Amino acid sequence: MTIEAYFIDGQTSKRRACLVTLQANAISIVYYDDSLQKLSSTWRVDAILRQDLRTTSNYIKYGDFPHQVLEFNSEQDLSRIIEYYPEALFHQSAYNKFSTFGWKGMVSALVGVIMVAVFFFFYGVPFIADSFARSIPKEYETYIGNNFRQTYLQYQTIDTLRSEQIQQFYNQMNLESDYDISVVVVDSKIINAFALPGGYIVVFSGLLEMLEEEDELAGLLAHEASHINERHSLRLISKDLAMYVLFASLTGDVGGFSSILIENSNLVSSLSYSRNFEKEADLEGFDLLVNSEINPKGMISLFAKFQSINSKMEQELAKKMGMDSTDLDESSDTAKAWFVRFIENVPEILSTHPIPENRIRYLEEEMSQLDPTLTFRENDSLKLYFDKLLKTSKVSVDSSHLGFD
Ligand SMILES: [Zn+2]
Repeated sequence: MTIEAYFIDGQTSKRRACLVTLQANAISIVYYDDSLQKLSSTWRVDAILRQDLRTTSNYIKYGDFPHQVLEFNSEQDLSRIIEYYPEALFHQSAYNKFSTFGWKGMVSALVGVIMVAVFFFFYGVPFIADSFARSIPKEYETYIGNNFRQTYLQYQTIDTLRSEQIQQFYNQMNLESDYDISVVVVDSKIINAFALPGGYIVVFSGLLEMLEEEDELAGLLAHEASHINERHSLRLISKDLAMYVLFASLTGDVGGFSSILIENSNLVSSLSYSRNFEKEADLEGFDLLVNSEINPKGMISLFAKFQSINSKMEQELAKKMGMDSTDLDESSDTAKAWFVRFIENVPEILSTHPIPENRIRYLEEEMSQLDPTLTFRENDSLKLYFDKLLKTSKVSVDSSHLGFD
């Protein structure tokens, strides 16, 4: 079959009349150049470029860029070629390609899309939220933190005298920080402390009662200061909110959005950082102390205290449940019941924080790597403020919440 058409050879943009002959697997094109010399080109049908012929005009292309082009006089001429090569790929559009994909192809495409979505949800969103939290201006961060702090302290009794003393103690430590950190003591039996965005630390008097040396308080404050320097709580809240907003937009549950905001402002005191954040605060706090020439060993003895109170609590709990912890081995059913009750009663700090043994281990490793010629300053002023703090009125301690956040 022969069809009249126009040919562009890809070398020049000149459009020349040509004769197209359709063969079994190839199209042969004969044309004449300017000096009327007869030339020809042969296109392999399976190498004609694929395109959506429903949307383009009546031409087909061949070869590398710049392509050779065959332009037909009418759609009918192009149709004749398509009908001549019904199986050829060049006239199979993307739409046709998809429908010949088969259900297996569709399923794997769907699985792929879901996997990308899941990856985005669990890695992309937290990553974006984290970068966002890091980029919030410090002034705004302090504004948010101060709001949280005021909301929280509204319902607490502040120990004004000890707040002043602990603030003086903190100032004497002279830790590096971009933030103007302010420390407040809340009168409570609970053994806890936490940091808020923008430079606020809250310490419960219950935690102060269990301290014996100024190094321990220094260790605690350095840990909290590192949470502030690294913006841990803002990063955590921002991640929670981003996940919530995404989830709400997927499920259409927008009404709950305001409730999570309220929840976050009330529950700032019980923010549970990830183990990574805790470890980071421990190690950076350790460095802050060393840089300020304060002996970081207090951090370790602080965790040793948690550890011993912790195991005492476990024993007491086991006694309360009417069994000794040695009963654990005897019956797996009883052991399970004991374990469930223990988990229900376990302080939040122990379920989310690195266990004290681990913290002691990696901090001791840091200690062993310190330059042995390093000297720490004689902390007379720290000792002075610490002794004042200790002398100030004492409360009894409720160890059901143990540690610091
Ligand atoms: Zn912490």
